[in-house]
Amino acid sequence: AAKAAGKSAYRRCTQGLRESAVSRAELIADLRRAVDEEQLHLEFQPIVDLATGAVRSAEALVRWRHPRLGVLSPARFLPLAEETGLILPIDRWVIHEACRAAATWQDRVPSATVAVNIAASHLRRPDLIATVTEATAGAGLAPRALTLELTESALIEGSDAVLDRLGQLRELGIRIAIDDFGTGYSSLSYLHRIPATELKIDRSFVARIPEDARAYATVEMVTRLAGAFDLGVVAEGVETERQHDAVAAIGCVQGQGYRYGRPTALAELRAVLAKADPPGVSGVAESGLTL
Ligand code: C2E
Ligand code: MG
Ligand code: MG
Ligand code: MG
Repeated sequence: AAKAAGKSAYRRCTQGLRESAVSRAELIADLRRAVDEEQLHLEFQPIVDLATGAVRSAEALVRWRHPRLGVLSPARFLPLAEETGLILPIDRWVIHEACRAAATWQDRVPSATVAVNIAASHLRRPDLIATVTEATAGAGLAPRALTLELTESALIEGSDAVLDRLGQLRELGIRIAIDDFGTGYSSLSYLHRIPATELKIDRSFVARIPEDARAYATVEMVTRLAGAFDLGVVAEGVETERQHDAVAAIGCVQGQGYRYGRPTALAELRAVLAKADPPGVSGVAESGLTL
């Protein structure tokens, strides 16, 4: 046991050393090259229909394979990317890559959609529309197969220009999700103005159900609200069977979390999609056609 403890202390120590060995400035310089040198990749986390277990959607999550530090999570480099403006080329790359990936799902699941996260600074840029249009058209993906995930804080600073842009995106058919819903300065009035198509209930609430009555009531309330506003609703961060049972009982429509699958490589996600939904079925149902 002493040996094991020693080993893990050693590991912690070398990890600390490795991190401090790369200065902030170096990391920024490295990040500048990351896109061009193809060091970024995407993982896809399934989003499950709670009633049927079918997977018709996935969220694209970016990772950086740093030449010396190994694979870095977004928490490790996105703040730097935001500060330096490098978030824009990164997000653009993510949008293109995610659209190309989703295009490969359509043969199996015609109604499949992919969700990408959009930084607040990107939302403020008029060229977001062009980026999204080029990415979907270039990949041969229907705009309705792409969801942009925006946080409340990004939306709350929403100028009229941002609202116009969201309206234009909706007219193109792009879906708009409010991510981490409930953690920002939620004001019910902005929900009337933002042309959202779905709410993603933050995992901090889901983590505390079913034991915590207030967390339970919050998930219930947001689910009802989404229903009343005719919005989709996703419970984020579902990890356990009990959390799954609770969100399903509440009537939440979709779930995402380790209970259903971790973020995974594209090939693995394709396998999950194929298993859950044979070609043609949900595409017909969703487009409202009757045969
Ligand atoms: P998010 O959009 O809320 O994404 C969900 C995060 O929760 C992901 O972390 C995912 O791996 C994690 N997660 C999913 N299920 C569970 C669960 O059951 N339990 C727990 N504890 N965690 C779970 P990840 O991949 O580290 O991403 C963190 C955040 O970084 C994302 O939060 C998103 O805000 C941001 N992000 C990720 N990729 C991109 C990107 O391409 N562009 C931008 N702008 N932001 C990104
Ligand atoms: Mg997200
Ligand atoms: Mg989220
Ligand atoms: Mg979250």
